Order: sequence, then C-alpha cells, then structure tokens
Amino acid sequence: MEMKDFKELFPGLETERPVVIAGPCSVETEEQVLSTANELSRQGIRIFRGGIWKPRTSPGCFDGIGEKGLPWLKSVKEKTGMLISTEVANRTHVELALSAGLDMVWIGARTSTNPFAVQEIADAIEKSGKDMAVLVKNPVNPDLELWIGSLQRIYNAGVRRIGAIHRGFSTYGKHVYRNMPQWRIPIELQRRYPDLPLFCDPSHITGNKELIAAVSQQALDMNFTGLIIESHCCPESALSDKEQQVTPDRLKVILDSLILRDSSTTTESLALLRQQIDRINEELLELLAKRMRVSREIGQYKKEHHMPVVQPTRYNELMEQLVKTGEGMGLSGDFIRTILAAIHEESVKQQL
Ligand code: PEP
Ligand code: MN
Repeated sequence: MEMKDFKELFPGLETERPVVIAGPCSVETEEQVLSTANELSRQGIRIFRGGIWKPRTSPGCFDGIGEKGLPWLKSVKEKTGMLISTEVANRTHVELALSAGLDMVWIGARTSTNPFAVQEIADAIEKSGKDMAVLVKNPVNPDLELWIGSLQRIYNAGVRRIGAIHRGFSTYGKHVYRNMPQWRIPIELQRRYPDLPLFCDPSHITGNKELIAAVSQQALDMNFTGLIIESHCCPESALSDKEQQVTPDRLKVILDSLILRDSSTTTESLALLRQQIDRINEELLELLAKRMRVSREIGQYKKEHHMPVVQPTRYNELMEQLVKTGEGMGLSGDFIRTILAAIHEESVKQQL
C-alpha cells in the first residue's frame, strides 16, 4: 500500500514542533467558544478544536450542539484568525463542515473503526472537490491495519493534507489511563509512514488533566509532530470530559514545561531508541505480571481438582511450539528456551 506525497497540513502557519491544536471537547455556547478561543489565541494557539457532534457512550448525555455551532466556530476564525476544526462522523457532518469553510476535520476513534462511515466521509470530500486537512484518530481497538485503512480511504479520495491522531485504546476495567497508549502502535505507524504528521491526544489518553504534561512529553520524545489538547474556559462546568480539560492558562503552563529534543543528531536518535526500549521493557513487565496472575489462578484450580502442578507433556509441547513460533519471528531458539524456562519456573513457584 502506497501512501506518500503528503502536503503541508496547515500551509502558511508556522509549523515548529509541536504543532498545537486546542479547544473544548464540546462546543456548548457561543460565549464559551469565543471566550475559550480568545484566551487560547492570547496564549499563542493557532488552531482551534471544538466538537459539535459528540459520539457519546450512553444515550441521554450531551451529544453536541449540532450545526448550530458552525457559525460560532466561524466567528472564532473571524475574531481571532485561528484555524477552526471539528469532528465528523458521517457524510452530512462533513458536507456541513465543508460548506462552513472549516479548515480541518478529524475523524473520531469510534468512527475510524467503521469502514463504511470513513468511506462515506472520503467520498463526500472527493465529491466536493474542496481542499481541507483531515486528521484520523486511531480506532478504539488496538488495530494498526484498521487505522491505516481509514487513513488510506481519505488519502484515496485525493486528500494530501492528512495526518493521524493517537488517542489511546479502550480496555476493560479501571486503569491509570482512560485509554491505554500502547505506544508501539503509533511508533509502528511512524516507521511505516515517516512523513505522515502524527499528533498525540493526551487528553483522551489520560482522561485526567494531571497527566497531560507527562504524556505530551513522551509523545514529543517519540518525535510526534504535534498535540491536540482539550481546553475549556471553565472546565468544572464542561458538559463533557470535564476531568481532562484544562484552562487556557494551564495549557500554557503545560506547553512551557515541555522539552523539545532535536532528533537530527545521532546521539538524540539513540536517545529515542532508548525511550522505545524503556517503554517495551515496561510492557514486558506488565505482561509478565499478567502471566503470573493467570498462573496463580490455574494453581488454585489445580489444587481444587487435585491435579499436579507440573504436567511435563504439556510443558514440552508448549515449549516446542513456542520455539518454532519465536524462530519464525527471528528470535533464536536458545534465547526462547532460556526465557520460557525462567517463566515456567516462576510460574510453578506461584502455583505451589
Ligand atoms: C474528541 O476528540 O472529543 C473525541 C470524541 O475523541 P475520541 O474520538 O478520541 O474519543
Ligand atoms: Mn473529549
């Protein structure tokens, strides 16, 4: 699959890293939008976001002001000179956004899981013949091919001002993050399409304003192009995502705290590789912990059913099968045997 010749996302705009897009989760009132935009503009933000169609998990939640909000976004542009953007989830949304003269739209995480919806958006853009920037969020499930597929549909519609947004992946249960970053997925996207602008959405990854700075820093360390951060003039009274929205003043503090690495020198790219290693090591530890939790449960089951802890036939079969799989992935057989023996030994201890 070819995807190249990307054009500058926001021509005419100073595009020093990080490119920052900010604005409220939801457009609520004209006053809220304008007051947030004015403050953000004073802080030097050049690209404004505001959701007018909100895909909510449960019915009955505030699901957006709808097209009534489009003129409010337009007055943001007129009054502050900022570029304006919103989320689109179907043909009607994108047609309305195109006629309102929005500079950019993004496709949300729930929509980018749905090839029909993405195709319908792509077709509407192609039919309009208009030029607009389109950012595609990762699908809610950790599926890189599906994310690329959505980007490809937009690209095939002739859009060259195109970018991706990493907003983390859903998981069951309560975790530190609202959506797990699973950094290896955006990193692999970056490896395959090094020129594709990649944004991080620390607001939806963390779901918590206290963690936005740290995740933003990680994204910059991994060479992301920019950040999309939710900012509201009065987060406490926000109609959606209030836990993760920051005031424009707070946003400025966060942005000022970020350190930009120069990735052009050899030593810096070494640092970036080390960051990846650190991340992968953390993930390995998490997996090992999970593996041991399951072992303990199996131990309990075996106890209750008076079964022996070690079952050599199963262990040998498993080992041979995993060695084969691992070798297929380019790992050495010896290495896999050593690792698996250590895991098995620990697992037996956990079951005793
Ligand atoms: C949003 O950006 O407000 C939004 C709904 O995000 P996501 O699609 O990442 O949940
Ligand atoms: Mn939101």
